[in-house]
Amino acid sequence: MSSTKTIGIIGGGQLGQMMAISAIYMGHKVITLDPASDCPSSRVSEVIAAPYDDVDALRQLADCCDVLTYEFENVDADGLDAVIKDGQLPQGTELLRISQNRIFEKDFLSNKAQVTVAPYKVVTSSLDLEDIDLSKNYVLKTATGGYDGHGQKVITSAEDLEEANALANSAECVLEEFVNFDLEISVIVSGNGKDVTVFPVQENIHRNNILSKTIVPARISDRLADRAKAIAVKIAEQLNLSGTLCVEMFATADDIIVNEIAPRPHNSGHYSIEACDFSQFDTHILGVLGAPLPAINLHEPAVMLNVLGQHVEAAERYVTENPSAHLHMYGKLEAKHNRKMGHVTLFSNEPDNVVEFGKGIDF
Ligand code: AMP
Repeated sequence: MSSTKTIGIIGGGQLGQMMAISAIYMGHKVITLDPASDCPSSRVSEVIAAPYDDVDALRQLADCCDVLTYEFENVDADGLDAVIKDGQLPQGTELLRISQNRIFEKDFLSNKAQVTVAPYKVVTSSLDLEDIDLSKNYVLKTATGGYDGHGQKVITSAEDLEEANALANSAECVLEEFVNFDLEISVIVSGNGKDVTVFPVQENIHRNNILSKTIVPARISDRLADRAKAIAVKIAEQLNLSGTLCVEMFATADDIIVNEIAPRPHNSGHYSIEACDFSQFDTHILGVLGAPLPAINLHEPAVMLNVLGQHVEAAERYVTENPSAHLHMYGKLEAKHNRKMGHVTLFSNEPDNVVEFGKGIDF
């Protein structure tokens, strides 16, 4: 029997493209479903151009692939359930449902995986905000549809309540206590349905709620780093994880608090392409195929810088001046403001000296 598989990827952005590149290295064929026929994945795979909720297109993809996976969590889980054959989506649709809704996600993390999350409560209308203790700070987040800080309101005083009440009356929300973290970190973990493998802890710096820089290893104590990795493994095991998952967390002086999970390779794991002996995309493909997973080694401390639409020229200049830095461009045709166009990875023991593109100029 041939070990070459046809892998169907839902979503043809940069994550789908980098998954496809890993799959192709391993000898597999990739077909992508994406609304845009010229999406980044079109450089490396066949594309079925159709909306994500087009059940006929999902069925067409399922019919011609051995295994299906996705590059983002807002996939139509019901549509997928209607078309997948037994075992065809190793990640399952349950994980999608958990990560599509912050209420399910918090419930899963705190009650099933039993990891620490910020104290929270479900908010169904502004009435649920009437008795909050304003001596503390909070973040109100819509249960569904939020990303990169959209659909969120920080509450630090009574003045913030007007906007928070409006948000609470517009959609189901989760109210979280504000965490006074030292660092934002994340851990990539991959599973093959039986075993898991875990990557080093990543330190993440955001600008305008968009990831700007990742430093690996994160500058936290070994004790906290071990704890962060153990939490990621615990979550993965609770899920019988297949493929790659990113666990985003806050590191405080003496604790790790889980913020959210993303059931796919993540922007903060891109450094692994050059800096680890297997990338988060390699282990994603191995994992969804149920193949044995390698232990992960970091070759050297690394830094990843995101290249947004307004940073393309600066990034191109940077790699001309620093030819040992690796420039990845995703092949997007239009460089819009704040659109993720590529990233740069370099090895460095002095991450503070690696300056983010556009820092102080145009984030
Ligand atoms: P999220 O959409 O949950 O990833 O939140 C976006 C960003 O808001 C995070 O990267 C944090 O910088 C910040 N944030 C979210 N939740 C909290 C919290 N409970 N306490 C402090 N900061 C938060």
